[in-house]
Amino acid sequence: MTSFSIHGVGVSSGIAIGQAHLVSNALLEVVHYQLPKHLINDEIKRFSDAIATVKADLEQINSSLRKNAPAEISAFISTHLMMLEDKSLSEIPKEIIKNEQCNAEWAIKLQMDDIVDQFEQIEDEYLRERKQDVIQVVERIIKVLLGHQNQLTSAQQTSVLLQERKLILVARDISPADAIQFKQHQFAAFITDVGGATSHTAILARSLNIPSIVALQRARDLINDGELIIVDGDIGVVIVNPSKEILAEYKLRQEQWELEQQKLQRIKTTKAITIDGTVIELFANIEVPEDVAAAKAAGATGIGLYRTEFLFMNRRDMPDEEEQFIAYKAVALAMKGAPVTIRTLDLGADKQINPDSVVSCANPALGLRAIRLCLAEPHIFHTQLRALLRASYFGHVKILIPMLCTLAELRQTKLLLERAKQSLRKDNILFDENIALGGMIEIPAAAINAEAFANELDFLSIGTNDLIQYTLAIDRTDDAVAHLYNPLHPSVLKLISMTIKAGAKLEKSVSICGEMAGDAKMTKLLIGMGLRQFSMHPSHILSIKQQVLHSQLEQLDTQARKVLGLTDIEKIEPLVAKFNQL
Ligand code: PEP
Ligand code: MG
Repeated sequence: MTSFSIHGVGVSSGIAIGQAHLVSNALLEVVHYQLPKHLINDEIKRFSDAIATVKADLEQINSSLRKNAPAEISAFISTHLMMLEDKSLSEIPKEIIKNEQCNAEWAIKLQMDDIVDQFEQIEDEYLRERKQDVIQVVERIIKVLLGHQNQLTSAQQTSVLLQERKLILVARDISPADAIQFKQHQFAAFITDVGGATSHTAILARSLNIPSIVALQRARDLINDGELIIVDGDIGVVIVNPSKEILAEYKLRQEQWELEQQKLQRIKTTKAITIDGTVIELFANIEVPEDVAAAKAAGATGIGLYRTEFLFMNRRDMPDEEEQFIAYKAVALAMKGAPVTIRTLDLGADKQINPDSVVSCANPALGLRAIRLCLAEPHIFHTQLRALLRASYFGHVKILIPMLCTLAELRQTKLLLERAKQSLRKDNILFDENIALGGMIEIPAAAINAEAFANELDFLSIGTNDLIQYTLAIDRTDDAVAHLYNPLHPSVLKLISMTIKAGAKLEKSVSICGEMAGDAKMTKLLIGMGLRQFSMHPSHILSIKQQVLHSQLEQLDTQARKVLGLTDIEKIEPLVAKFNQL
């Protein structure tokens, strides 16, 4: 077996060694071939066996779902099982195989196209959308037919490997909706062909706290199911079929990495204070209420960003006020009076409720997303605001508005917030009357005008993921430009600095909740620039705290000034590296 390596963009650190588990885009791989008459019966049997395997797999998944798994997931699986039993999928393809003397994959694909066409004619949008279920079921059947699950067909075998954390997911892409489901599993790592360093897929990888690499371009073509691979999330390299020597070297590095992680545990309860006594707040970013456990375990002193959109994913309906309230209240209560910054819905662009139903538009990142979408759909916003306000009675909830661009948007938001408050007062429902309202600074226009926003808000939070995307005109999800995505670009640093200064001038707190806050190479620079609050995935808190404990404010202030005086990334990078040594 030849050994080779593939290079991509490392998005979550650590080393994983395990077997590749390919998630294929099976539909694209179906070819058509004719069969001699005497092989037709065998082909029909191959098809029936595939149906039986898929059925067994789905039943196994269904019974292994955790009790607290969203009901939607179980409902999805039941629907798929029902479809599998329907004649149109289980019997008609056999007739096609016989009549057309073709291979099973082709027959089921033809039948699927036919069913999908029929669904397309349905007027009811919900029913029309069920075609996606048909496609997903057929994909499963085709995967089995193509032998993609050969080494892993037995769900039992898969779950043993999963338990031992020896399975590495290899996919073309993983939608945030898929990735959120992986929280239930224990993959050792995941790698994808597409994606950028701050795509939501990458962010979720970090939240799973497993090594991962995106933008590998052709990993799925080059790696076979079941092959041994090493994932080095630090440098973004995948080594396929490593030699004995390389494997030994990586096993050693993996042990060292784990040892370092254990050492970091020693500072878990240490306060994040610089050498000269300045307190730096280290908050956590969370996606679902269950993430609070990880945030607390890492010693986070608050939630700096709760991305509520994940509550809206993997489902066909919208969560109502009660469901939202329960989720927000759970976080507020669990944090016992520590700040819980809940961001209002940031849907659109790379965070779609259901990627299959994306309305195509030329530039989704510049389209109707986040606060723009909420202001355009005030009933959805009203429901969320009421749920947020109700939760505020049970803890220290703060509201954060994403993607603000104009003061008009802010004022309209305030109006709608006031309307939600009024409606609760009318219903005699209690909430925190002094709830703080903050805005995300993630559009260059907002950063340039940060003082005006600071003037009308209680706090600011810089979303560097989008701020970098919009400043440098680099799609955060596009692997082709992932290498150009650089937080140290002088213009990005200037916008961050302007925002921090605006907050300081008006005595409003400023935090960073983008991925930059969790990058230990940036910590000292950001402290030097005046940042006192960082919010990141819980898995990064300890390594950032270690930087804080070694920071000397006066020194960093001088160094940061020097960095901000530079206009060339090539000069900035070595200077930042140097002052990380301080
Ligand atoms: C950001 O843009 O930096 C941010 C924190 O928001 P999100 O990544 O959810 O877009
Ligand atoms: Mg953002």
